[in-house]
Formats: sequence, structure tokens, C-alpha cells
Amino acid sequence: MIRRFTLAAVLSATLLANLPDGRRWWGHVQYLADDKLEGRDTGSPGHRKAAAYVAAEFERAGLKPAGTEGYIQSVRFHTRRLKEAESSLTLVRNGESEELVLGQDAIISTRVDPAPSLDADVVFAGYALTVPEMQYDDLAGLDLRGKVVLYINGGPANIPGPLRSHYQSATERGRFLERAGVVGTIGIPNPHHMDLPWQRIALSSRQPSMSLADPALDEQFGLKFSAAVNPEQAGKWFAGSGHSFDDLVALADAGKPLPRFPLHASIHARVAIERGEVESQNVAGILPGADPVLKDQFVVLTAHLDHLGIGEPINGDRIYNGAMDNASGVATLLDIAESLNESKPKLRRSLLFVAVTGEEKGLLGSKYFAAHPTVKPGSMVADLNVDMFLPLFPLHSVTVYGLNESDLGDEIRTVAKAHGIRVQDDQEPERNIFIRSDQYSFIRRGVPALAMKVGYEKGSPEEKIAKTWLKERYHAPADDLRQPVDLECAGRFDDLLRALAEAVADRPDRPRWYASSFFKRFAE
Ligand SMILES: [Zn+2]
Repeated sequence: MIRRFTLAAVLSATLLANLPDGRRWWGHVQYLADDKLEGRDTGSPGHRKAAAYVAAEFERAGLKPAGTEGYIQSVRFHTRRLKEAESSLTLVRNGESEELVLGQDAIISTRVDPAPSLDADVVFAGYALTVPEMQYDDLAGLDLRGKVVLYINGGPANIPGPLRSHYQSATERGRFLERAGVVGTIGIPNPHHMDLPWQRIALSSRQPSMSLADPALDEQFGLKFSAAVNPEQAGKWFAGSGHSFDDLVALADAGKPLPRFPLHASIHARVAIERGEVESQNVAGILPGADPVLKDQFVVLTAHLDHLGIGEPINGDRIYNGAMDNASGVATLLDIAESLNESKPKLRRSLLFVAVTGEEKGLLGSKYFAAHPTVKPGSMVADLNVDMFLPLFPLHSVTVYGLNESDLGDEIRTVAKAHGIRVQDDQEPERNIFIRSDQYSFIRRGVPALAMKVGYEKGSPEEKIAKTWLKERYHAPADDLRQPVDLECAGRFDDLLRALAEAVADRPDRPRWYASSFFKRFAE
């Protein structure tokens, strides 16, 4: 009797553990997003604790260490923090100077390493976008040597979304700006496509910026200054130019090219910086494949471990817990590793799980890992990335970034269909999501990649929930453990991603970029 009862208990416990109810996933989120981890800022003690937790969980799930010391790969960073009180930005027009209010009118960015001072004329360069494949160049014909370019984020609608995103990346834009002799940039967000309200952009500018200490991976492109303008205060930059900011935004919203013109204005900037160095951790573990040949190939699963740490308080809370961004994605990796450890499928290829650091600082941990992989270069056949997948309502569809770039797109379509889940392409290319997370670091090294989020239809109540989430919780202390989350959705999402990883690990051939894909060039 006792024996039978025990067996039944064991059976039901096993069943429970296998049901995608999301509870195991949530357990990991609870640890990683706890106040004790202080928001897991890159280089912080909280991040170190989070990395130790992930390493221990990898070990418990039977993954082999794949760092440089155990599961850990250390990454070194330079840090820069703006000393706001000693810095200023002045707009000079017709001999009249107006000192801008930092935080309110504009912010000075420390993503590029700024010079202590700069005086330069300002030219409005449309989107400041160059797309050689489309013979599109906002910089063409302008005299930009020694100038600062002012631009509106985005690009004309006839340029395909992934291409538009790619050429808006700091690396690509920087290359063309450098060639044109530009010394500084001032970006204006399109007020209709802002994931973050201006106030939070302003608060986050007080956080330190980082760049990789590895000189080969630190790209500055000769830029001496970088800033962003509050779109609500952008009007004054265009006074007397014959153009208004509102008209330019209307053109951008209609997907049109923008006019380009000198502004008869210059800036005077003084920038004081406090510099430092930190070290942070990528965490990597391997589930070895079973095929004698294919086991030397790796399907990489990535999620960023870092978030924003402790910052400016909002509603009295200073800890930016990053529960959805991206404790959720790391929890998904751990959930998948554990469930594979239970079901023990014999996969042909190996799976390489990597929780990366420095994503919030510009995809830096993944950039480092993709440049210095802990497995043989060329052996990573795919990257499947999870970042802030937002399980806020039941899972009926997934939005897949990179869906039409490689045959990983066919793979997810097949797997999702078997799970009764619809697949949709990126519905909002203007948000640049394809280049905004770690899959992009692998794409740039030629590795076919996908990223997935819980999908919703335009105009649906679910869209409203997702948009409200962005407005109220994205990069805010309210992205914490006290928020409504759909656990079953998360559990089913993990299941789907695990099935995708298994399918890619077992297919006979390596995933391939489509011949039509722009990104295939990085593989050549
Ligand atoms: Zn983020």
C-alpha cells in the first residue's frame, strides 16, 4: 500500500514536472529578479551572484562546463559615466547661445568616448542612413567634414526591415559617418516609435556606458560626441530652417525619405567623464550530442543575464530588477536544460547554452563570445536567442525575428505547427528588434539566427497589454516580481523553444541562410 502510494506520488510528481505549467521557469525568475541581486548590472556583485546561480543550475542539469574557468568566461570592460554637473550642451544660432537643460532638452551619450569639448556646425542629414544595396545615402552630397549630424531615427519604408535595422546599428552607421568626416551625432527618436518614454531615456543616461576592453572589438569611428534630443523639445533645432520637426516626423511616419539641409546652427559641448574598468561574466554549458561527427557542431541558445542594476529611483524604487528583461529568458534556458536532463533525448548535435553579460550596454557579452567562442570557430551552426519574450497572455502565436532570412524559418514553422502555435514575421520593423538583441552578434559572425517572442495581432487587446507593459515597466523598476505573468504561456513557450532546438540539433544538414538574405554575406 505504502509502496504503491509512493509510486503514484513519484509518477504524479514526474508528470507535474513535465507539464508546461511554467512553475519551474518562474522559480528561476524569482531568484534572478530578486532585490538581493540588485538588478544584475554588468560588472556588479549582483551579476556575479546571478552568474554563479546559472553555473550551478547548468551543472545540476548535467551540462558540461564550457567557459574558460568552469562555466564562466570573464569579459573585461571600460566604463564611462557622465559627470553631468561639469558637462553642458549649448545650441548656438545667429550668434545667440542657448544652454540646453540636460535631461530635459537632450542627453549626452557616453556610448562613444567623448572628447572633453567640441564646437561644430550642425547639419540635418535626414535619417543619416546609408544603404549601399538600395543606392540610398542620406550623407551623399553633404559637406560633413568636422560637422555634427542631426537625424531622426528610422528609414524610408521601401528599405526592407532587417536591412533598415542593420544599417542603423552603431557599427554600420559609424563606418559611413567616419568616411564622411563626421565628428558627432545627435539622434532624435521618432515620437511615435519610442519603446521608452523620454523621461526614462533621460534617467538611464546617468548609468555608466561600457565598451569592450578588447581593442579589436571597441569601435569608436572617430566620433567625439554623441547626444539624443527629446522629441518634444526638438522644434528649436529647426527654427529658421524652413522645415518644422512635425512636418519631418509626418514624412517619416509616411515612410518617405527626408530632406537634408544645413541648420545655420552649431553646438558647443563640454563633457566630463569618470572612467573605470569592470569585469563581468558570460556563463556557458554544453549538452553533448550523440552523433560521432555532428556532436562537434553546436546549436547555441542565448539569453542575456545582465540588466540595468541600481539606478535613478522611480516611485521610490531604485532596483531595476529586470524580471522580464531578461531573467525570463535565462530562466527559459535553465528550464529547457532541466527538461532535457529529464527526458534525455539523444540529440545528434551538441547544444551550447550561453547566458551572456553586457547586453544592455550594446550586446557586448555576446559580441565578445561570438568573437572568442569557447568552442571551435565555425562550429556554431545556429543561434536561438530569447530576450524579454513577454508571456503576458496565453500563447497562440510567436513573432519570429529573422524568419525569412534562413531555413531556421522553415524549422520554426514546422515545430510551431505541431504545437498548434501560429508563426508571424516581425510586425514592427521600425522598432529594430532584429538588431537589438544578442542574436545579432552571431549573425554578424555568419551564424544563422532567430529570436522569438510571444505574438499578438495588431489592434488586439493583447497588443494593448504589451504596449502598456512597455510604457509602464520596460527598463523601469516596475519590471519586477510583482507583475501579472501568464505562467502557462511561459511553460509552453519553453516547450516550443526546446522542440526547435531539438529539431535543429537533429537535422541532417547545417542551417543555411537563404540566397535572398542580406545577412548571408557575413557567412562568406
Ligand atoms: Zn533591456
